[in-house]
Amino acid sequence: MPIVLDKPSSFFDTFHRKPTQQKTTHYCPGCGHGILHKLIAEAISAAELQDRCIIMAPVGCSVFLYYYFECASISIPHGRAPAVATGISRMRPDAILVCYQGDGDLAAIGTNNAIHAASRGEKIITFFVNNNVYGMTGGQMAPTTLLNQKTTTTPYGRTLENEGAPLPVAEIMATLDAPGLVARTAVNSPRNIQKTRRLIRRGFEAMKDGKGYVFIEVLSHCPTNWRKTPEEACRWIDEVVTKVYPLKLFKDDLDTREPLCREHPRGGFPELVKALGVRAEEQDAGGVPPALPNGTDTLTFKGAGFGGQGVLSLGLLLANTAMRKAWEVTWLPSYGPEMRGGVAYSSVVISRKPIGSPVVDCPDILIALNKPSIFKLGPLVPEQGTIVYNSSMIDELPPDLSAGTVAGVPATDLAAEAGSQKAANTVALGCLAGITGLLTREEIAGALRETYSKPAVYDLNLRALDAGWRHGVRQGTDA
Ligand code: SF4
Repeated sequence: MPIVLDKPSSFFDTFHRKPTQQKTTHYCPGCGHGILHKLIAEAISAAELQDRCIIMAPVGCSVFLYYYFECASISIPHGRAPAVATGISRMRPDAILVCYQGDGDLAAIGTNNAIHAASRGEKIITFFVNNNVYGMTGGQMAPTTLLNQKTTTTPYGRTLENEGAPLPVAEIMATLDAPGLVARTAVNSPRNIQKTRRLIRRGFEAMKDGKGYVFIEVLSHCPTNWRKTPEEACRWIDEVVTKVYPLKLFKDDLDTREPLCREHPRGGFPELVKALGVRAEEQDAGGVPPALPNGTDTLTFKGAGFGGQGVLSLGLLLANTAMRKAWEVTWLPSYGPEMRGGVAYSSVVISRKPIGSPVVDCPDILIALNKPSIFKLGPLVPEQGTIVYNSSMIDELPPDLSAGTVAGVPATDLAAEAGSQKAANTVALGCLAGITGLLTREEIAGALRETYSKPAVYDLNLRALDAGWRHGVRQGTDA
């Protein structure tokens, strides 16, 4: 097949990233990404796959690749390209899925995703761009950084003792059964570019034939972070990098492979219920959902506190109890990097209708278990909303609260009296139920029984629930 050297049709004519339509890329002068982009675009056009290609744009220097390829593309969270591509592959078996990932994306944060996708033999062609550093963020050490190579985080050079050995990703991929083609190549010289061009075209032909997973590691030069001129960087690949990462076709058994066929019949909801063995009474928890106390179709809730205060379980318990009343529910936990002592949030949406999003910004109901939570979230609760706060830990309220109901409950103290401070979350939920009538004491107790299988833990939480419930009912009566 003749090699086409003009602009491939799967490249845009101009790049719209900047207001002035530019003809050059955003990459640094002498970067290897541009060459690889061109080779991939040529192969897509040559195989006439432009309309079927979906390219996963990673986090890294190549994050903007969708400005160059005139194909469908998706911007993917760091390292998750194979997971997203897998999902698309299941729904669109004819799609040609291209994962374009760098060292940090594939060989660090996304290694598990990459290896499992390869091991499953997903219909994905992966380009692993190995330039030995984190390029976009300023040249930190990557798993692929060479021994003795200086980076911003290894200013004395990477050592075996401190940082371990460079990660040979292509070699690892080649040990798996499922990939049909695994190779390492480079784009630092005309000779290597020609080899890479042929390899990429072979990979796309395999994708066209539906032959499963292809992995191509491409040694690419990063003059900027290597602190070299483009010429020096290209030479360095030949003289140094390839000694650690040899250019090699590790595996190619594409010719003997059959196209991957994943035709599992998909049924509708009734078939799924049957396959799962769900009984009829479990499909519908209670017929028509009852009206919500706020008189609308949807009620939003946020629980907040320190990690370790049971904020996530609090939301889960509320969601489980609400589900038993045939309401639609979502539960969305979130927390800071540290699980214990950091911030933790539970967002719950309860609705009589299907829920569009589990995200809660301005909750109708807030349970704040610590002071930072009420200062941060309390002012967001609307006038008709309710705030229940843990007065054992909150001795001051923000001045700008507008919620119609603001009730303190000494949740930590009442929980301690019930047997353990850890049950402060259950006290707070009991108090909320007592004030609002959103849930009955019996409904929460039923959910507690399902949540806590150990009798002692269940009994403790039941006592905590009752203490909070009584407090809430009194507050509701006083109001
Ligand atoms: S930092 Fe390196 S990899 Fe990133 S664009 Fe510049 S040369 Fe290319």
